[in-house]
Amino acid sequence: MADTAGRRISILGSTGSIGVNTLDVVEQLGGRDAFDVVAVTGNTNITLLAEQAKTCGARLAVTADEDCYHALKDALAGTGIEVAAGRQALIDAASRDVDCVMAAIVGTAGLEPTLAAARRGADIALANKECLVSAGDLFVKAVAEGGGRLIPVDSEHSAIFQSLEDDQHHAVERIVLTASGGPFRTWTREQMAGVTADIARAHPNWSMGLKISIGSASMFNKALEMIEAKHLFNVSPEQIEVIVHPQSVIHSMVGYRDGSILAQLGCPDMRTAIGYALTYPDRPKLDVERLDFAKLARLDFEAPDEQRFPALRLARTAMQRGGVQGAVMNAAEEMSFHAFCAGRIGFLQMADIAEQVMEDMAGYGAAATMDDVYAADSEARQRADALIARTGMAA
Ligand code: NDP
Repeated sequence: MADTAGRRISILGSTGSIGVNTLDVVEQLGGRDAFDVVAVTGNTNITLLAEQAKTCGARLAVTADEDCYHALKDALAGTGIEVAAGRQALIDAASRDVDCVMAAIVGTAGLEPTLAAARRGADIALANKECLVSAGDLFVKAVAEGGGRLIPVDSEHSAIFQSLEDDQHHAVERIVLTASGGPFRTWTREQMAGVTADIARAHPNWSMGLKISIGSASMFNKALEMIEAKHLFNVSPEQIEVIVHPQSVIHSMVGYRDGSILAQLGCPDMRTAIGYALTYPDRPKLDVERLDFAKLARLDFEAPDEQRFPALRLARTAMQRGGVQGAVMNAAEEMSFHAFCAGRIGFLQMADIAEQVMEDMAGYGAAATMDDVYAADSEARQRADALIARTGMAA
C-alpha cells in the first residue's frame, strides 16, 4: 500500500474512462485509508457519479449539467454528501483545498476548472490535454504561480516525464512520441472516407473514452499530444518526433545528445500512469498486467503517413505559428469531432474543416491572456460550425 494516507484529492471527470481508472487505483492503494477524496465530478452519468461518491466517501459531488441537479440530489439524499451543479459549481469544486487534482474532464470543458485548480496551488495530474493545447504557456504559468506540480497522465507524456533525467534538460535532443496508428493504420484514404463513429472508436490496444478513441483513429489525438509535449517539456516543434508503434508497449522516449534513448515500457493500461501521477515520486504496487517479453517477441515501428493522417501536419503548423493557434486547432477539431459523431460530416472531413479554420485564422497571434484564448476558441467554433453546416448540406 502506498504511503499516501490523508492525501486529499479531487477527481474532475470521475465518471469517464480516466476517472473510473483513477478510482480503481485509489481503491487498490487502500481507498479511504490512503486518500481523502474531496470532490468527484461528472456531467450526465448521474447514477455512476452518485455511486462513486458513496463508495469513495467523497465530500462533494458535482454535475456540470444543471438539469441533472435534482437527480443527483435525490441519488445522494441522506448520505451527507454535498451536491452542486453547473459550470461555476465545477470551478468551485476544482478550487477546493486539496493536494492533488486529477484533471480528467474531456475537451475544452476541462480548461476552466483545471485552471482554477492550478491557481489554487494543487498538484495537477493532467489527463485533459486540451488545457495545454489551447492555453499552452498560460496554463504552465498558472501552475507555476499556484505553486503546484504538473504531472502528466497521458501515457506518452508520463513516459517522457519518467524518462527525463533530473538536471539533464539541456542534453535532450528529441522527444519521440509513440502512436499505435489506431484502427486505420493500414487503410487507404478511400477506405477511411466512409467509416462511421462506431467503426472509428474501436481502438486496437487501449480502452478509452469516445473522443480520444476517434482521435486515435484520425491521429488528431497524436496531434494534440505533440502540442501538449511542446508545452510540458519546453521543447521546440523540431524536437518532437512521432513514430508509429502498433503494439503500444513503448509509451514514448527521450533521445539525448550522446545518442542514448531512454524509454518507458509497459502493457497498455492507463492505471500505471495514473498511479504514478497520484503518488509521484513514489511507485506503489499496482495490480496491472506485467510485460512478458517472450510472448511479445517483437516491437514494430513505422514512419507516420501525414498524407493519410493530415492532423500531424496541422499540429506542426499550429506549433510553428504559436500564439492562439493551438486553441484554434483544438476548437475546430472538437466541433468537427461532434459533427462526425452526429453523422453530419465524414471521417476525412474532420481534418479538412480544422485545416480550413486554421487557414482562415492564420493571422491570429499571441495569447497574452486567457481572454485571448477564449476569444480564439469561440471564433474557431463559429467558423467550424459554419463550415460543417455547408459541408453537411453538400454531402
Ligand atoms: P470520457 O469521455 O470517458 O470521460 C469524460 C469525463 O468528462 C466524464 O466524467 C464526463 O462526464 C465528463 N464531462 C463530459 N462533458 C463534460 C462537460 N461539458 N463538463 C464537465 N464534465 C464533462 O473521457 P476520457 O476519460 O477518455 O478522457 C478524459 C481526458 O483525458 C481527455 O482529455 C483525454 O484526451 C484524456 N486522456 C484519456 C485517456 C484514456 O485512456 N481515456 C488517455 C490519455 C488522456 P459523464 O460521464 O457524466 O458524461
